[in-house]
Amino acid sequence: MLKDKVAVVTGGTRGIGYAIVKKYLENGAKVVLFGSRQETVDKALAALKEENPAWEAEGMCPNLTDAGEVETAIASIQKKYGRIDILVNNAGISESTPIYQYTPELFDRVMDLNVKAVMYTILPVVKIMKEQGGGSIINTSSMVSRYGQPAGVAYPASKFAVNGLTISLARELGKDNIRVNAVAPGVTRTDMVAALPEQTVKAICSQIPLGRPGEPEDVANAFLYLASDLAGYVTGEILSVDGSGRS
Ligand code: NAD
Repeated sequence: MLKDKVAVVTGGTRGIGYAIVKKYLENGAKVVLFGSRQETVDKALAALKEENPAWEAEGMCPNLTDAGEVETAIASIQKKYGRIDILVNNAGISESTPIYQYTPELFDRVMDLNVKAVMYTILPVVKIMKEQGGGSIINTSSMVSRYGQPAGVAYPASKFAVNGLTISLARELGKDNIRVNAVAPGVTRTDMVAALPEQTVKAICSQIPLGRPGEPEDVANAFLYLASDLAGYVTGEILSVDGSGRS
């Protein structure tokens, strides 16, 4: 479904991002994954190589909260491959600090990665996509962008911002054949969920009509669809993958 497309996936070393990288490789794309440390990038690349030595994947670890570093990384990908067809903004952090313990620094830390870094990758990539005649940008939102969450206010606020950015850019970039969508996962079995208090996870799962948490592959399937030509007339969509029965 993605034969010969070039994809960049941030936060691609584990969890949902790693599942997206694998799904894209399985479908013929060449993938550049971004991670926060060289060590985790190398580990992810080794695992991919072991699964299929023919897959074309490489990794980088620019500081996503530094616009200049991100621009340099994107420029080097453009130089090597001549194009970027798919950008997945998936790197993100979650936290659940109660408001009375909140600090401005914590709020900034979440916003810097979950919102500003998304903008920092989009800025250089849209210029490349416009010049080549189009592309697909997919951001990772969350079910909390619809319902909020009872503690850790920066996280849902950041994902509401991701939705706003997605819908607005979809409207602005349609004329350049650049589609912009987001996937809003529910509780998905990754390290991020393992870090939540057990009680919180249990409470959330008891509300899921499909009766189970999501697997990273459930979410990656939605990223495959939105990246592919099957979604050629879909833009500005926030696609829930949360088993909730609510849109
Ligand atoms: P994870 O913690 O397993 O992986 C997070 C990824 O982000 C890793 O690849 C990590 O390298 C990268 N990352 C973290 N901090 C970084 C930094 N400072 N700089 C660069 N990269 C950094 O998490 P996950 O569950 O796979 O989450 C991926 C995305 O899915 C996030 O945007 C998250 O908000 C979203 N999400 C997850 C769930 C869930 O239940 N797991 C639900 C809804 C949304």
